[in-house]
Amino acid sequence: MGFLGVLIRNLVAGPSTDPFPFGETFTPATLRGRVEYHPADCVACRACEQVCVGGAIRFDKTPEGLRFLLWHDSCTFCGLCAFYCPTEGITLTDDWHLAHPQSRKFAMVEEGTIPTIRCAACGAQALATAPAAALFDHPPTPAEVEEMRSYCPRCRRKVAAERKAS
Ligand code: SF4
Ligand code: SF4
Repeated sequence: MGFLGVLIRNLVAGPSTDPFPFGETFTPATLRGRVEYHPADCVACRACEQVCVGGAIRFDKTPEGLRFLLWHDSCTFCGLCAFYCPTEGITLTDDWHLAHPQSRKFAMVEEGTIPTIRCAACGAQALATAPAAALFDHPPTPAEVEEMRSYCPRCRRKVAAERKAS
């Protein structure tokens, strides 16, 4: 086909690429993109911090609780954090819109805090982590999860043992 033929064919067929950034573009369903942290589901095991190949995750003890910090700039999107997370405290999304100027690299973070509380039973200081599934002998209701969250680890075990025995 000559030049004119190719030109006419392409004009009729239209662009074969997506119009991004001026329109929608294709995102594969299995894409590993921006990491999200969900403090309400976190048991504070810190496995994600241990396995993170990019050294992107850090936990810090603060007066308010246990603070989670993730630098998107250091994340390699390997997915190990989500793979080893025993709950769904950390997950990968299919969002890849992370381009940013170098000057904003320290602002590209995911943050969250598990708050410090006083145990509702004994008054000891504790983290309001998500209660482990092993504390229940049935799938817990949201109210049961919230009640257990209000106890320290020792009182959680005591309450769980009493309920399983009754
Ligand atoms: S996000 Fe998951 S792996 Fe990380 S500390 Fe929380 S429960 Fe553990
Ligand atoms: S996806 Fe990989 S590099 Fe990114 S935070 Fe998770 S473990 Fe770290």
